[in-house]
Amino acid sequence: MHPWLLELNPQQQAAVTARPGPVLVMAGPGSGKTRVLTYRVAWLLAENHAQPWNILAVTFTNKAAREMAERLEVLLGTRLRGLTVSTFHAFCARTLRREAQFLPFSSAFVIADEDDQRRLLKQIIRGDLNLDEKSYNVHRVKAAISRAKNEGLGPEAFPRRTYRDEVVAKIYARYQQRLLEANLLDFDDLLLWTVRLFQEHPQVLARYQDLFRHLLVDEFQDTNGIQYQLVRLLAEQHRQVFVVGDMDQSIYRWRGADYRNLMRFERDFPDAQVVLLEENYRSTQNILDVAMAVLYHRRRRAAHRKQLRARRGSGPPVVLQQVFNEQAEAEFVARIAVDLARRAGIPLGDMAVMYRTNAQSRVLEEELLRVGLPYHLVGAQRFYGRREVRDVVAFLRLAFNPDDLASLERVINVPPRGIGARTLQALYRRAEALGLSPGRALLHLAEQPEDWTPHLSARALKALYGFAQMLQAWHVRVAELAPAQLLDRIVADVGYEAYVRDGTDEGDERWENVKELRRLATEFEQQGLAAFLERVALVADQDTLAPGEEGLTLLTIHAAKGLEFRVVFLVGLVEGLLPHSRSVDDPEALEEERRLLYVGITRAKDYLFLLVPQYRMAYGGLDFAEPSRFLAPLKPPLVHDGSTQKQPRAKRAERYDARPHRGNRREAAPRRPSMPRLRPGDRVVHARWGEGFVLQVERSHGDTLVQVAFDSGQVKVLLAEYLQKL
Ligand code: ATP
Ligand code: MG
Repeated sequence: MHPWLLELNPQQQAAVTARPGPVLVMAGPGSGKTRVLTYRVAWLLAENHAQPWNILAVTFTNKAAREMAERLEVLLGTRLRGLTVSTFHAFCARTLRREAQFLPFSSAFVIADEDDQRRLLKQIIRGDLNLDEKSYNVHRVKAAISRAKNEGLGPEAFPRRTYRDEVVAKIYARYQQRLLEANLLDFDDLLLWTVRLFQEHPQVLARYQDLFRHLLVDEFQDTNGIQYQLVRLLAEQHRQVFVVGDMDQSIYRWRGADYRNLMRFERDFPDAQVVLLEENYRSTQNILDVAMAVLYHRRRRAAHRKQLRARRGSGPPVVLQQVFNEQAEAEFVARIAVDLARRAGIPLGDMAVMYRTNAQSRVLEEELLRVGLPYHLVGAQRFYGRREVRDVVAFLRLAFNPDDLASLERVINVPPRGIGARTLQALYRRAEALGLSPGRALLHLAEQPEDWTPHLSARALKALYGFAQMLQAWHVRVAELAPAQLLDRIVADVGYEAYVRDGTDEGDERWENVKELRRLATEFEQQGLAAFLERVALVADQDTLAPGEEGLTLLTIHAAKGLEFRVVFLVGLVEGLLPHSRSVDDPEALEEERRLLYVGITRAKDYLFLLVPQYRMAYGGLDFAEPSRFLAPLKPPLVHDGSTQKQPRAKRAERYDARPHRGNRREAAPRRPSMPRLRPGDRVVHARWGEGFVLQVERSHGDTLVQVAFDSGQVKVLLAEYLQKL
């Protein structure tokens, strides 16, 4: 008996030491599936069932692969040469490079990124096939091709039900051809070509089957059609395939994942030994009870329930907390994080904030920067580093300061308006001749186009003139429009929404980020554009996490799969975010959203905070937000309802200081001149809404927000500045 087998419970041991052959481990979160898979590899090696190079272990992320390899070296106490622990994509890329002689590309292929894909598709749609880009939107075509590839369908097998499908199939065929000509593979191609390689070259497949005699796959519920095919092909011969998964945690349907692969596995490997794990080692029982209440909201019969039993006792209560808005939410997170770090001694690295969409990180990031709490984002660009945010900021900067050459260069051809390198050179030459910066030269062009005609080609002139007119219109309105209005105008003029928003999830997310930036802009109605741009520049420049420093982790719930943290904050638990507004009309998508919350909850080991903002910033003010429907089953004593208690209002986290002594407590934000104090019950008047009573007063982000019941019957939340006390 190997000593480390004692670190497992009897069921886990049974799975780890199951006789070689197909094994399926199905079990809930935190039950040790990943641990069992890791120990299985150790056992295969220790028992001499395999040499390291005979093993292929597949994880969901590269990070998980690294962690698994490290853990194995600790378990076995040796360096493991030749062991393959990787994601499907990494394994495929390696295989294709090695076997390129059998394939229509060379081993020096490059993996095409999103931009490459888009550029290529655009050329084909507009250039080669001369199609209307509105009907054959690049992003949607790209998504359709990706879906087909994930099903293992090449252009010839692309399902043709309508005329449109015929055309998309044609675009797909050309796209593949062009990729090959350029020795490019897109992300989905990695899987597609590998499966094809194995199907069309049995002798190659046989080699791989012989080499990888043991195949292990984590997170099996989130494999897609082609990944399943790959597993089947590789395992056909030896049938020594070990997969672990949990149907209730399948959250990647939108990317082609299909949890029914777990059932397919049982069908295709009828002799599989099935092991169920029943104990949860990660979380406290309080956390698991909340997770089950969310998941099993409708399933009353105990027989259908998979109980999650905690090994660790009940632990502190789960907190469900209503807060005023997203800002208050961020302040809450910061305050509790500082508290837990100081009083409970929990390292920040053991805490995570999770949200549904990347755009939600903005408010959090700013608050964490304000109080000096180090953090890092997983799997996402920091908000101000995101392309769409930088584009829109560049437009605003250019409108404010036409001399800003970097911004000009960034956006002069965004969305593409035919201003290429040659036209840009012509502009620079002309600007030099006029003794103006290129931006100023454009303003000149807008006013006196006739001065320009002799100097530029008609085509270049036309392209530049269009942009120049817009720029001039923005520039002259900088003083008169509020930042948010200027932003609206720019976005409308250039057609930015249509440019980023293309019906794909990714496009929606990009547009969400633009809207999020706009929300921030609304806060600068009084201070104006210069103050807004300064704020953006300052925040964007700060680097929060010095290398090696521990910080709070900010990530989407999707990215949190498989991970665990002692403290988890789930923020923005309101209708429209979780469930996402995109999912509410589709029952299956809705169930996936519920599972997503379940996955989020079950990441927590000790402390779980569920946060529900009552208001969200929207166009033109604050909007009432409804708590997520998934929270309905969560009533005391299942959760501690923090909102019913009197909260120490307006108490914000002090600046976080990692050093033990904390002498000077500086306020980071400048104070505003004080307003006449309003209290609930005060009578007020508003220029537009008339007279009413104050219901609630809340300080947030240096602003005083007042909820007023107007005599007209409307209830609004307004900035105190706009109210007069009667
Ligand atoms: P998920 O479904 O979220 O991926 P999982 O089933 O893969 O969860 P693991 O991550 O493997 O669960 O295990 C959860 C935690 O419990 C880990 O910290 C792991 O080390 C610990 N754990 C699992 N089994 C045992 C055990 N027998 N003894 C002690 N700790 C254990
Ligand atoms: Mg796991």
